[in-house]
Amino acid sequence: MLKDNLEEVEKNIQEACRRSGRDRRDVTLVAVSKTKPAEMVQEAYDLGQRDFGENKVQELTAKCQVLPEDIRWHLIGHLQTNKVKYIVGKTCLVHSVDSLKLAAAISKEAVKHGCTVQVLIEVNVAGEESKFGVSPEETEALVREASALPALEIRGLMTIAPNVSDPEKNRPVFRRLKELSVDIAGKNINNVTMNVLSMGMTGDYQVAVEEGATIVRVGTGIFGQRAYSVQD
Ligand SMILES: *Cc1c(COP(=O)(O)O)cnc(C)c1O
Repeated sequence: MLKDNLEEVEKNIQEACRRSGRDRRDVTLVAVSKTKPAEMVQEAYDLGQRDFGENKVQELTAKCQVLPEDIRWHLIGHLQTNKVKYIVGKTCLVHSVDSLKLAAAISKEAVKHGCTVQVLIEVNVAGEESKFGVSPEETEALVREASALPALEIRGLMTIAPNVSDPEKNRPVFRRLKELSVDIAGKNINNVTMNVLSMGMTGDYQVAVEEGATIVRVGTGIFGQRAYSVQD
């Protein structure tokens, strides 16, 4: 089942790339394994999957300990400053930086570890009250402030689009994030490369790829329904 799902998602990404004239190699599939056991992650790993996403620090660090070392772990969920110390050195990309306070905490910890942490700024494009992230208007200011911090590399933007039944409804959201990223890239801010766009989930990743996603985060579409609902 997992194998069929992965193949299906892969085929859909390839088709979306073809429709939009993009190179498949420019899109990374992050398999979102939250709430799923390490055995399932291992199964996906054995099928060739290397990028996995978790939204909880504790779950990420627990899986990280028992699974192959060459897995690239993405932290995609809201991060509290007091948990930063557990993930620095363990994640390849933090998708969810939404305040200067958090950026500063990551930077401080990275300096301590003698490493650099790659991050994305989370943008609440649709302005949903239930979601984390800065508004599109606040994004450039946060990028500028965070870019001055040591040992932190801002690689791009991330958004969680609204939960909709018709993925086309999210096309303007993805387009807006892409525009914002192009705008900010044009400002040539030191220490900032806007070449990562993390957007699109099970319900809408094809549309996100068509609109320029370089990372899609697919959970249900790969691992099946989650047994209990988690706060996204
Ligand atoms: C859970 C989650 C996903 C995956 O959602 P699916 O709809 O199961 O594909 C993607 N991104 C974030 C931030 C999530 O929390």
